[in-house]
Amino acid sequence: MSTVEQPTVLIVEDEPAQREVLAYNLEAEGFSVSRAENGEEALLLVDEGAPDIIVLDWMLPSVSGIEVCRRLKTRPDTRNVPIIMLSARAEEVDRVRGLETGADDYVIKPYSVVELMARVRAQLRRTRPASVGQRLEFEDIVLDAETHKVFRSENILKLGPTEFRLLSTFMEKPGRVWSREQLLDRVWGRDIYVDTRTVDVHIGRLRKALCQHGGDDPVRTVRGAGYALG
Ligand code: CA
Repeated sequence: MSTVEQPTVLIVEDEPAQREVLAYNLEAEGFSVSRAENGEEALLLVDEGAPDIIVLDWMLPSVSGIEVCRRLKTRPDTRNVPIIMLSARAEEVDRVRGLETGADDYVIKPYSVVELMARVRAQLRRTRPASVGQRLEFEDIVLDAETHKVFRSENILKLGPTEFRLLSTFMEKPGRVWSREQLLDRVWGRDIYVDTRTVDVHIGRLRKALCQHGGDDPVRTVRGAGYALG
């Protein structure tokens, strides 16, 4: 059982068979998958909460994949979500256009599912390292997402599953300030009702766990904003 929250993938594809094959393979790899069959639906789903990565077909009815990509890459809240564009057109000019819209990668149909999965993981290694089994380091703290072990100055730390998820979220982006709502969304999942005070309780437990063998408290409280690591 994984204690790092599953990465979320949004598949935007109007061909039902292709959409389902992709969803099946991504779910088998442990991703949490949502599906959109057109550009409008994709934009609505992103408004409900940005996924960790988007696999976006170029040719879609009404709002095209290029337009969806362009819109998401100009919005500050979605600009950093990696987008892999799928296209049936192999011409170099299309590739250039695809990249000019801000797409992070580009795969030509028909693609091999194995190759596409590798591209998805490559994007996530950059943006969500803990979700693809990486070792994260911050000062004297080391988190091994594969073995679910946390060390501080060579001492192994005892952490509950929620504290582990909180720490991996922090360690993916040291210095970033997370609001309580963002932490609820990332660590507990948006479908579960949890009071924001619960976040404070678990932050308290995380602090205690991080200092169980001594050392300074690395978690910073940012008044009116939330919490950050470092
Ligand atoms: Ca299509």
